[in-house]
Amino acid sequence: MKKITTILLFSLSVLSANAQTFIKAYQDRVNKLRKEDIESNLKEFEKLGIKTTGSEENDNALNWIKDKYLSFGYSEDQMEEDPFSIGKFKSKNLIITKKGTVFPNKYIIICGHFDSINGPGVNDNGSGTSIILETARILKDVPAEYSIKFIHFSGEEQGLVGSRHYVKNIVYKDDIKQLDIKLVFNLDQVGGIKGENNDTVFCDEDRGGISANNEASRAVTQELIKCTTLYSPLKTDIDPAEDTDYISFEEKGEVITGFFEYLRSDLSHTKDDTFANTDVMYVFNVGKAAIGALQHFAVANR
Ligand SMILES: [Zn+2]
Repeated sequence: MKKITTILLFSLSVLSANAQTFIKAYQDRVNKLRKEDIESNLKEFEKLGIKTTGSEENDNALNWIKDKYLSFGYSEDQMEEDPFSIGKFKSKNLIITKKGTVFPNKYIIICGHFDSINGPGVNDNGSGTSIILETARILKDVPAEYSIKFIHFSGEEQGLVGSRHYVKNIVYKDDIKQLDIKLVFNLDQVGGIKGENNDTVFCDEDRGGISANNEASRAVTQELIKCTTLYSPLKTDIDPAEDTDYISFEEKGEVITGFFEYLRSDLSHTKDDTFANTDVMYVFNVGKAAIGALQHFAVANR
């Protein structure tokens, strides 16, 4: 009898560890996301101008992001800059680390680029930037089992230059792996099309590149879909991962997933990628899904 009970209890606990059920504490934190904060982030991001990698505007954007983390209460020693250059142009990635309680040396990376090209890039990628910022603000004092790195990449529009630099020089040193990464969760272009019914988000699954990590990406993308359904009003669809910073990690075998808008704006990389053309409510809803998912991935306190 005891044996049966033990087996039963064991299988129940396995079930509860894997099955993604609704967690009230996660929802309560998701509810701390305010549409007004997303809106003011996007407006401030627009004001910073065209953030071409290597420009003064690009530097100003990086400092704006840094100041946000300081205002949330993150300390200077949780922040790390990763400078790189493209020819004569210099730029930096910004990394903020929040230590895990059980697995301090295993990392969940949530990332997105802040550089833009031809325009202020409010959708591509002020949207992802604003969500990462609010996620960091809301989860700052929430214990989580895994360490979280919030990463803001530059040089994305020049061909993932910033993220490739990060992977080559920080994740690896002299080709020796330094960081144990559980998964990479990227947000790029989640601003939708103003005036359209943006009710669906693409969850990006790795279907190319190195094939050894595809199955793990499929599994975490399924978890991302589930979190989106649990903690946001959005519907989901799956698209193949491509053309953004997680690819730099994928190429080294890491497990990746991400969000991308379902109705694709054709204004990215133009002067019209502005606040006026971005659906703030959609960014807000993707933000809810992201906060739910990051808590799930990092195993935040229940
Ligand atoms: Zn982008």
